[in-house]
Amino acid sequence: MIATIDFIERKFTEFNRIIFNGSLKPLPFRLSNARTFLGQLRYTRKRKLFGGWKYSDFVLVISKRKDLDETLLEDTIIHEMIHYYILSNQLTDSSAHGKIFRGMQQDINTRFGRKIAISHRPAKGELENDTQTRVHYVCVSKFSDGRTGVTTVARTRLFMLWDKIGDFPDVIQSKWYVSADSFFNRFPRSITLKIYRVSESELEPVLAKAKALVRDGNVIRVK
Ligand SMILES: [Zn+2]
Repeated sequence: MIATIDFIERKFTEFNRIIFNGSLKPLPFRLSNARTFLGQLRYTRKRKLFGGWKYSDFVLVISKRKDLDETLLEDTIIHEMIHYYILSNQLTDSSAHGKIFRGMQQDINTRFGRKIAISHRPAKGELENDTQTRVHYVCVSKFSDGRTGVTTVARTRLFMLWDKIGDFPDVIQSKWYVSADSFFNRFPRSITLKIYRVSESELEPVLAKAKALVRDGNVIRVK
């Protein structure tokens, strides 16, 4: 079946009651045409005064691009509800699908006979979930008009694009990083050279945790 807002709302209410003891607050639902994920929990995060993040403004997004098995659609909704439970309770997990996530996922699978996957990667026809932790090779470029752009490249294309990015029109500076931040999951990995504009304020905290890369001849390494 193709996801509808009605369906998501109905399932959210049902699973909230039977799985989460009604503890999840209502949140907006949205449908997406995305090809890159089945489900996604969107949110904003703000740095707390003494470290860590404060999560808010949650939106549960489900892709309507594919005709999916109803059970898979339900499992996708529950998967995002686990993220919502963790982040709305301001819990800090060991990674995007860390110990807390896995504990809840396994518990729900056992108690309710579900088949919620940890990541969305393995199943046929499914693509990666947006909060999954992956390593990204990223080039951050500055344009002559002051704007900033990012390119995430496949490891195998790193050398080739490292050389080419300076040829991009109006690029005045490029820096390379390696990062595991899920911020970069939203950008398709470039095979050809493509730069996606981003806001600097959004990028800054992500880069603060990234490692800069340098190139010495045939070796690209962490600075
Ligand atoms: Zn996930």
